[in-house]
Amino acid sequence: MLQQTQVATVIPFFLRWMERFPDFASLAEADEEEVLRLWEGLGYYRRARSLRAIARRVMDDWGGNLPRDEEALLALPGVGPYTAGALLSLAFNVDVPALDGNVERVMTRLRDQDDPVDRPPAKRELRRQIEELIPTGRARDFNQALMELGALVCLPRRPLCPTCPWRDDCLALRRGTIEARPVKSPRPPQEKLRALTLLASREGAYLLVRHHRDERWAGLWEFPTVDDDGESLAVWLDAPRITWTKRGTVSHAFTRFRRTLTVFSCQVGQVRDGESPFGSRQTLWVRPEGLNDYPLSAGSRKTRDRWLAPEG
Ligand code: SF4
Repeated sequence: MLQQTQVATVIPFFLRWMERFPDFASLAEADEEEVLRLWEGLGYYRRARSLRAIARRVMDDWGGNLPRDEEALLALPGVGPYTAGALLSLAFNVDVPALDGNVERVMTRLRDQDDPVDRPPAKRELRRQIEELIPTGRARDFNQALMELGALVCLPRRPLCPTCPWRDDCLALRRGTIEARPVKSPRPPQEKLRALTLLASREGAYLLVRHHRDERWAGLWEFPTVDDDGESLAVWLDAPRITWTKRGTVSHAFTRFRRTLTVFSCQVGQVRDGESPFGSRQTLWVRPEGLNDYPLSAGSRKTRDRWLAPEG
């Protein structure tokens, strides 16, 4: 939950999650939709799906106990070197590094390392340096201390160097290169996308469409959204474009894209069979008070919150 997300944001999600899924068994048995719903608002839904898949694998292959072996952990869905290192060191106190963004920042400044930190050779070098620093049998404390140092002292901008326990050894501090560390590879520019979302209502209920499992927002629901001018939607719903009302726009970002949705609303009579622009995707009519029961894509969540949130 904490990947890409701040602690204060995560706390209520974590508490709700742990209350519902206190162990691997309860998560393994849970319906995917419920899992996604509890995750809604944290984004990066693949993590929620991976957690459920991990719970199932741990129940099936490991008798309900997380393996203490790096290779076995790396074979679990969604577990990369950082997560494996964090699990091994924090849960089992195994002497391995847990290299997250905070730790990368501290270490590259400490050694004034100028290789792009997102490239494998630089990561390998950082891991090696941390391995040398971990006091034997103290990885749990050491890794957490290093993460906290990065999160609370060695801040991305204006780090609190006078209070840092490593200030006498820090090469970047000595050389005046702190602001330039860590070095990152240049990012491709953000690409802008446009789409159209329709709040189609019939007898007080709104149409939702579900993404297939192999699509980007696998398993999530959304208000009908298309990349074209909406004519295909108008035909399918038998609701001519001229009857639509423009409500406004919402935008959301994912990977390297920023997508702006122009939101319309319309009343629908009878939906025509077999002409859906969404092919075989599942569809559903849901009343506004029931929308919270369905995990929505980011764009549709913003649309719901802005135009269909319950009053009061
Ligand atoms: S001295 Fe400053 S830059 Fe160096 S590790 Fe400490 S907080 Fe970071």
